[in-house]
Amino acid sequence: MKITGAESFLLRTPLETAMGDSMQTVRALEFVGLKVHTDEGISGTGYTITVGHGGSVIQEVLDSLYIPELTGKDPFRVKEIWQQLYYGKAHWIGRAGATTMAQSAVDIALWDIIAKSAGRPLWQVLGGCRPGAFPIYNTHAGWLNFSKEQLAAEASGLLAQGYTALKMKVGLADTREDYERVKSVREVIGDKVLLMVDANQTWDLMQARIAARMLEELDLTWIEEPMHPDDVKAHGRLRGWSSTPLALGEHLYSTQAFRDYITDGAVDVVQVDVCRVGGVTPWLEVASLAQAHNLRVCPHCGDLMQVHQHLVRAIPNSWYLEVIPIWKEGPFKQQIRLEGGKCLTPEEPGAATEFSDQAFEKYRIS
Ligand code: MG
Repeated sequence: MKITGAESFLLRTPLETAMGDSMQTVRALEFVGLKVHTDEGISGTGYTITVGHGGSVIQEVLDSLYIPELTGKDPFRVKEIWQQLYYGKAHWIGRAGATTMAQSAVDIALWDIIAKSAGRPLWQVLGGCRPGAFPIYNTHAGWLNFSKEQLAAEASGLLAQGYTALKMKVGLADTREDYERVKSVREVIGDKVLLMVDANQTWDLMQARIAARMLEELDLTWIEEPMHPDDVKAHGRLRGWSSTPLALGEHLYSTQAFRDYITDGAVDVVQVDVCRVGGVTPWLEVASLAQAHNLRVCPHCGDLMQVHQHLVRAIPNSWYLEVIPIWKEGPFKQQIRLEGGKCLTPEEPGAATEFSDQAFEKYRIS
């Protein structure tokens, strides 16, 4: 099989409900990626997601640095292509951020082709080991722009839908206000539902330590991204002081960055994101590294779960899928199917990355 060509795309979709955390308020998402064609008539789609800006930078990386390298290559040699792209034209200017997000899209598209060519869903091609409905947690219960009343209404609504795990945002200027909001949700959901918080990097070590101590009595399953993601040492120190597990990974862009967190004992829950780390190829490396260190993987939903629903079923140490159900009708051809707090098994061939024709026409800006 040979790649005959590829074209990039950029979609922009406004959100019905604004989503606020300590870093930003998100009002639109961008889907930037590419469609790769082969001489056997099979095409693959890969993408990454931004929170409303920067998509054109990623598209430029695809157009000028990666797509010209693909024609004539065999998509089954996906790991060789990964190395060639990584050490190619983008290396001098990249290795994290926009270039790695663009590389994620390419790698996902190639794995989509491989799975379609086998006539099987990606999770089976990767050696599936966890078939069946998969547990999910919902982040929609706790945006920072929600009032306490909205938090309570969302949380009880999600419990009624069968969710057994929820996540909410923290990181307000006054940590006591964070505490009161988390406490109010804990009171609504009781002590049998898992509750996580996400500070989105807003604290320094002192503030993180104070917040972790204050939140201790609320029996949190994890504190997510308390501090700057490059500061492995500070996370190691915080983890030594706090009994609440630490989760992170959505802003780590390499296997080596995960290795440092894991071997330093600075992370408990590995949130590797297939749309950020460089695609399926390095995602599996990170998951194996976590497995070797007895750590669980809960991917960040930077792909809106389309690819991750496959990946968590291909490793033994996955735990929960993060879900942010934004639309009733999402932009994909094969939507994730959620039922009773679980994600149902995808059965269609491929990686579930194709956009519907309708969404493509409606939202394409470039
Ligand atoms: Mg997060």
